[in-house]
Amino acid sequence: MEIFYNSQSINNKIKEHKSEGKKISYVPTMGYLHQGHLSLMKKAKDLGDILVVHIFVNPAQFNDPNDLTNYPVDIDGDLKKCKSNNVDIVYIPTLEDIYPGGVPDISITIPSLMNVLCGEKRPGHFEGVLLVLSRFFHILLPDIVVMGKKDYQQFRIVDYFSKSLAFPVEIIGAETIREDDGLAMSSRNSRLNHKEREAANLIPRALKLGEKLIFEGEKNLDSLVEILSDMIGSSSLLKIDYLEFVDPETLQKKKSLDGDALLAIAVFCGSVRLIDNKYIDITN
Ligand code: AMP
Repeated sequence: MEIFYNSQSINNKIKEHKSEGKKISYVPTMGYLHQGHLSLMKKAKDLGDILVVHIFVNPAQFNDPNDLTNYPVDIDGDLKKCKSNNVDIVYIPTLEDIYPGGVPDISITIPSLMNVLCGEKRPGHFEGVLLVLSRFFHILLPDIVVMGKKDYQQFRIVDYFSKSLAFPVEIIGAETIREDDGLAMSSRNSRLNHKEREAANLIPRALKLGEKLIFEGEKNLDSLVEILSDMIGSSSLLKIDYLEFVDPETLQKKKSLDGDALLAIAVFCGSVRLIDNKYIDITN
């Protein structure tokens, strides 16, 4: 496994691999790796020849300075996990390498996909994600990018972005990996105390209940939202940021169950914001 800290040298290396006809698969991460990240790496390795992982906490995508300051970091642990999970190249850029002269004054927006859910609640977040990925795509020249559907809106936005701007890359979505009690794995889970961690279990339970009630015949989305909100609200440690049924393609709020739906939830658990979702397959 090779480790690079500089964009020029990793770009040269990638070009070398590409000139030999190798397919580059790429997993973007902010580090503090868990099984969710490792599952993306496995998928990416299966789909390409050279697996590249970046570890970079991108300040441009944090709308809350406290969230950025408290974001967990464990580079040594991450490198060990990369090594034992067949990663070929790890890229750990400095801030200066990615944003020479500071974060540039440029922004790509996809209003219809960004004015909802996390885009609405975290202004500037997805613009920051697309800014950094634009740079990474040029540096790493990936053929395949594997992204988690836990961050479903991010996955949809990046897919739309790369298709619309003709990046020669395929965006592949990967299923959410969960803890034994159903909580979606997240680097931010490490910031939950014991009581918060227990309460967080209501999130996957609400997702499951939503799906169950729909499959049992409940069609009224307003009453479903009310039932699930009450369930999450039953813990004083949880505060809902949003809980919505949206169209999985357009991400617009659904008024009725006329096709597949994404039940998307964001919840503050103490000071930690957690997101999760469930794809509800109505048509099959
Ligand atoms: P992050 O380091 O949180 O920016 O996440 C890097 C990538 O890992 C993103 O594509 C996430 O969607 C994905 N990811 C995060 N948590 C999970 C999970 N529990 N299961 C699968 N993928 C995940």
